[in-house]
Amino acid sequence: MRALCWYGRKDVRVETVPDPTIINPRDAVIKVTSTAICGSDLHLYDGYIPTMEKGDILGHEFMGEVVEVGKENNKLKVGDRVVVPFTIACGHCFFCERQMFSLCDNSNPNAKMAETLYGSSPSGLFGYSHLLGGYAGGQAEYVRVPYADVGPIKIPERLTDEQVLFLTDNFPTGYQAAENCNIQPGDTVAIWGCGSVGQFAIKSAYLLGAERVIAIDDIPERLLMASREGKAETIDFSKVHVLETLKEMTGGRGPDACIDCVGLEAHGHSVDAIYDRVKAATRILETDRPHALREAIQACRKGGTVSIPGVYGGLLDKMNFGAAFAKGLTFRMGQTHDTKYLAPLLQRIEEGQIDPTFVITHRMSLEEAPGAYEKFGKREDGYIKVVLKP
Ligand SMILES: [Zn+2]
Ligand SMILES: [Zn+2]
Repeated sequence: MRALCWYGRKDVRVETVPDPTIINPRDAVIKVTSTAICGSDLHLYDGYIPTMEKGDILGHEFMGEVVEVGKENNKLKVGDRVVVPFTIACGHCFFCERQMFSLCDNSNPNAKMAETLYGSSPSGLFGYSHLLGGYAGGQAEYVRVPYADVGPIKIPERLTDEQVLFLTDNFPTGYQAAENCNIQPGDTVAIWGCGSVGQFAIKSAYLLGAERVIAIDDIPERLLMASREGKAETIDFSKVHVLETLKEMTGGRGPDACIDCVGLEAHGHSVDAIYDRVKAATRILETDRPHALREAIQACRKGGTVSIPGVYGGLLDKMNFGAAFAKGLTFRMGQTHDTKYLAPLLQRIEEGQIDPTFVITHRMSLEEAPGAYEKFGKREDGYIKVVLKP
């Protein structure tokens, strides 16, 4: 089959590789009909995530048709059309039973590696390093789905691939980020990063009852999408001082909740952002550049919530934890418990409460993916969300 393989920093190639097969009896093999490139794939592309190996197949956002089912999988049958959540979960461990699917205890075969770094291991993910399981991803013609009787959800024929594809990650991720803000009537939510997750966080904040959403970025087309599609007020951080502007917009108090949809590669213009760039370039201690997070902490009103869907992988330097303590902030973060949100969010799509296709800016074939990574990585040509057809 053809698949997009990682070879190193800024080096991905579409190659012919062996077809996946059923390994465990609960597996399924999916013929991918649509897949997408995620902002977090760029962290891999830029070489920020350790334990990648040459030839690893990328992609954690994919859907398709079941072509093979393991003999203990009673949920799926050949021909089913499914969306697959990006977090891999066994369905039966302590964490899965509590619907904390991204913390599954059984789905990361390299848990020892993660335990060394983090104390204990989160779930495995598709196409996201050996630290998180070394699973082949879905930017490919076919993919093996482990525990396929837990994650995948069947999709009604009347919905198109593009309407449901972002259930794999970005929609639930934006939704969980908003849900983690415990939004109350009248609340103002500020969102850093207007990539795809940020766009869904904006929509979700309104779906969950926010009165105002303020979106922060420096890329004009992303800000435009946030205001046109998301109905958010916007701040261009290349033009104004974010903290002062947020204060002014909220009567001096600050937003009730702040969502960091940027994660570890924040590009800011202030002194601490420049410091981070120098520091990250030398790769001595710090792996993550947390500029957006610092600003979110600094901006948030007293007693407010900072919600972090953006991916962090390692150590954070110069973190304003004193501000968080002084203001009594609540922090919510982590990978999305995707599986938990599939059915309710599919229902919202079916009821027409949201049409996730608004976020798509580019459509192309899998063969063209390396060029898309390059342009998306440089934030060129208006890239926000790319859908690939194998
Ligand atoms: Zn993703
Ligand atoms: Zn589990």
